[in-house]
Amino acid sequence: MSSSSSESILPFKKLKSLSLGTDGNVYCNHNMVAVLRVAGSRSVGLGHEFYGCPLWPESDCKFFIWKEYVDVMLVKDPTLNN
Ligand SMILES: [Zn+2]
Repeated sequence: MSSSSSESILPFKKLKSLSLGTDGNVYCNHNMVAVLRVAGSRSVGLGHEFYGCPLWPESDCKFFIWKEYVDVMLVKDPTLNN
């Protein structure tokens, strides 16, 4: 187990669809607040947290983003986090 690198191994997916509210919440393609989940054993990002559609699996809009990318974006753009 090594966690020394600041570079992520996770794939950067669908960043264009990322929508951050002024409250810091993440919104899915339904324009609903996305829910935080933990990637399972079949995912490349096992154990990593990600945001997904709150209606999944009944009405999945395919929204998906790793939590760590959201965190990075919040840091890079302070206007989203005031
Ligand atoms: Zn959705």
